[in-house]
Amino acid sequence: MSITSSILGFPRMGANRELKHLTEAFWKGTVTEAELLSGAKEIREKHWKIQEAKGIDAIPSNDFSLYDHILDAAVTFGAIPPRYQSLSGLKQYFAMARGLQADGVDVASLPMSKYFDTNYHYVPVSLNTTTEFKLATNSKPVQEFNEAKALGIKTRPYIVGPVSFLLLARVSKDAPVGFNKLNLIDSLVDVYAQLIAELGANGAEWIQLDEPHLVVDLTPVEQAVYTRAYTLLASKLKATGSTVKLLVATYFEGLGNNTELAFALPGVSAIHVDLVRGIDSFDGVLAAASKSNVKLSVGVVNGRNVWKADLDAAIKLVTRAVDALGAERVIVASSCSLLHSPHSLEAELTGAKVDTEFIDWMSFAVQKLEEIVVITKAVKLGRDFVKEALFANAKSILARAHSARIHNPAVQARLKAVQPSMLTRKSPYPARRTVQNKLLNLPRYPTTTIGSFPQTATLRRIRAQFKKGSIAQDEYERLLKEEIAHVVKFQEELDIDVLVHGEAERNDMVEYFGEQLDGVGFTKNGWVQSYGSRCVKPPVIYGDVSRPAAMTVAWTTYAQSLTSRPMKGMLTGPLTILCWSFVRDDQPREFTAKQIALAVRDEVVDLEKAGIKVIQIDEPAIREGLPLRRTKWDSYLKWAVDAFLLSSTGVNDGTQIHSHMCYSDFEDIMDAIIQLDCDVLSIESAKSDLKLLQAFQAREYPNELGPGVFDIHTQRVAPTDEMKTRVVEMETCLSGDRLWVNPDCGLKTRAWPETEAVLKNMVQTAKAFRAIA
Ligand code: GLN
Ligand code: ZN
Repeated sequence: MSITSSILGFPRMGANRELKHLTEAFWKGTVTEAELLSGAKEIREKHWKIQEAKGIDAIPSNDFSLYDHILDAAVTFGAIPPRYQSLSGLKQYFAMARGLQADGVDVASLPMSKYFDTNYHYVPVSLNTTTEFKLATNSKPVQEFNEAKALGIKTRPYIVGPVSFLLLARVSKDAPVGFNKLNLIDSLVDVYAQLIAELGANGAEWIQLDEPHLVVDLTPVEQAVYTRAYTLLASKLKATGSTVKLLVATYFEGLGNNTELAFALPGVSAIHVDLVRGIDSFDGVLAAASKSNVKLSVGVVNGRNVWKADLDAAIKLVTRAVDALGAERVIVASSCSLLHSPHSLEAELTGAKVDTEFIDWMSFAVQKLEEIVVITKAVKLGRDFVKEALFANAKSILARAHSARIHNPAVQARLKAVQPSMLTRKSPYPARRTVQNKLLNLPRYPTTTIGSFPQTATLRRIRAQFKKGSIAQDEYERLLKEEIAHVVKFQEELDIDVLVHGEAERNDMVEYFGEQLDGVGFTKNGWVQSYGSRCVKPPVIYGDVSRPAAMTVAWTTYAQSLTSRPMKGMLTGPLTILCWSFVRDDQPREFTAKQIALAVRDEVVDLEKAGIKVIQIDEPAIREGLPLRRTKWDSYLKWAVDAFLLSSTGVNDGTQIHSHMCYSDFEDIMDAIIQLDCDVLSIESAKSDLKLLQAFQAREYPNELGPGVFDIHTQRVAPTDEMKTRVVEMETCLSGDRLWVNPDCGLKTRAWPETEAVLKNMVQTAKAFRAIA
C-alpha cells in the first residue's frame, strides 16, 4: 500500500443548500419525516459518489448531520439531558437543537457554542453526575457506514473523539459542586469501544476520531485524561478482538507541546495534523512520527479558505513526510473537515457576469478533492503523471500573485506610512469627555440603541428588488428615506437621546461594507454552514483594500437632517470585517486588517466632516480572531487593537466614538478592550451574570459603558422593573455617571410591536434613574 488520500469531512448542505431547504420545510410541516430522511440519504449518497469519482481513498461517513455532528455524538452515546428524555427520535433531536413548543411540550433548546475559532456553531450537550452513557441501537455511525457500504463504498466513519467530546460539553447548571465532567471518561470510553467494535463487525477498517483539543493549551490533568482515555480504549478494543484502526485527527493549530502526548497515545494507528495552520509543529511531528510506527495524515489543502492550493508547495511538504516515514505511512488530506468550505465552484461559472479571473483563484470543497488527488498522484506516480494539472495550477497561482486587481501600490504605501500619532486620539479620555459633554449635552443615563431596527419582509423585498434592478435607484432611495424618517420619528417619540438611522439599507453588517470596498469580492453560491440550517456567504477579501467613495455618509446625514438630536453614524470595524470574510492568504492578516482600518478611518473622518457627532464602530468579532494558543494572543491583540485605533482616532476630541461588542466573553482580554479607548462601549450583558461587569470594575474601566439592559434575542418584552434591577446591579460595579442605557445588540430580528414596548420600558428605566440621581 502506497500513499493514500482522504478528507476529514465534506460539507453537508448540498450544491444548492438542499439540506437547508429540506430541514426548514420539515420544521414548517410541509415535508414529512420520511421525506426528510430520504432526501438526506440522497444528499449523502451524492456526496460519497462525488468523492469516489474524484478518487479519494479514505472517504468519511457520519460527517453528515441533520443539524450538528457534535449533537449527533451525544445522541449516539445516549447523553440526553433529562428534560428531553420523554421525547424520542427526530422530535427529541430537534428539541435539543431548537427547543420545542408544541403538543403540550415546552422545552428550551440547548445552547450553542462556536467551534474553536470557526464560524461553525455546535450544540454542546450538558453533563451531570446522572449522565449515563449508553450506545444507541443501530446508531447513526453504523447506519451511515452501512448505507455507504450498500453503494459499494467502504467509508472511514468519523466521530468526535472521547476527550474532545467531554471538553466540548458543558456542565449542567444543577450539577453538584465539585462535579468534574472529565470523571465521566471511563464510562464514556466504554461506549466508544462498543461503537468501534460494532463498526468493525460491520466491516469498517479505520475510524476517524477528532481530537482538536490536542492543539490547545491543555492542563496536566487534561493531558492525563488523554492518556487514560486512549489506554482504556485500546485495552477494551483488544478485549473485544477488534482490529479496527484509529486515526486521531487534530486541526486548526499545530500539536506544539502536545506532540509527544499525541504520538504516545496507545492504540492509535494514525495521526492527522493540520499543516496549513500548524506548520510550526511539522519538524516536531516528523521527529515524533519517525520514532513511532503510526501513519501520518498531512493536511496540506486548506479546509477553511477558498483559495486554490499551491500544489507545488503542498507536494514538497508531503515529500518531506514521505522521506521521513516512507510513502505507505503517509496520507494526503484536507487540513480539517471541508465543512468549513463552500460546496463547489461550479455554480460560480453559471449565470450572468462570470468573473473568470476571480474564479480561477479559488477552490471550493469539490475542487479541493481534486487537489488532494493530484498531490497524492504526484507523490505516488511522479509529477509527470499529473503534469497538466500541475501546470494549470502553477499558472493560476502565478496569475493571482501578479494580478493588477490584487496590488494597489497607493494602499500599500499608505499603510507603510502609518505613524504612531495615527493610533491615538488628540487628547486623553477625560479631556474628551469634557468637550463631548458640552457639545452633546446629554442627560445622565443616556439612552441609545445598537443600530438596526426591525428588518421587515417589505424592507428585504425592497433591497432584493433594487439588487435585481426591478426598482430604480431614485425609487429605492425614496423608499429607504421613508423608512429612515419613520425610524427617526419613532425614536424621537420614545424620547431616546442618541438616535440611529436603522440600517435598513444593509443586508448584513459585513457584506454591506464589503460590497463598497475595492479588493473585496463576492461569490454567487459560496455558502458555508454556520449552525443548523443557517448558512453564511462570506465576502472574499482578495486584494489590497481601499474605499473608492463614502459608504454611509449620505444615509446618515439624511437621517441627521430630520432631527436635532445627535444621529449616530454606524460602521463595521476592521476586525469584524476580517473575521467574517474569507481572507487572502498571501499577506499577514494584520496587513489586511490595517488596510480595512484605513478605509474605515476615512469614513469616520468623512462622517465627522458631514456634521455627525457620534460614530459607532461595531467590533462584535474582536474576540473571534484570538489564536487558539495563549502564547500567540499578545501579538494578535497588539495588531488588533492598533487596527481598531487606526480606524477610530482620526477625529477631533468632540466627536464621540462608540463601539459595540456582543458574544461578550472578554474578561480575559480586558487590557485590549481598555486600549481601544472608545468613548462609549456597549456590550451584551442582559443575560450574563455579573462576571463581565466585575471585570470592568476590577480594571476601573475609565470610559463610558453601556451594558445591555435587555436581551434582543427574544420577543419577550422585559418589564421596566427587570431593567431597573439590571441597572442597580450595574451600579454595584460601575458608577452611574458612566452608564448608558441600551439594548444588548441590534433590533433587526425583532418585530415592531415588541420593539416599541421594550424600548418604552428602557427609556422609562433611564428616566427613573435620572430622577433619583
Ligand atoms: N449595528 C449592528 C446592529 O445593530 C450590530 C450587530 C452586531 O453586533 N452583531 O445590527
Ligand atoms: Zn451585537
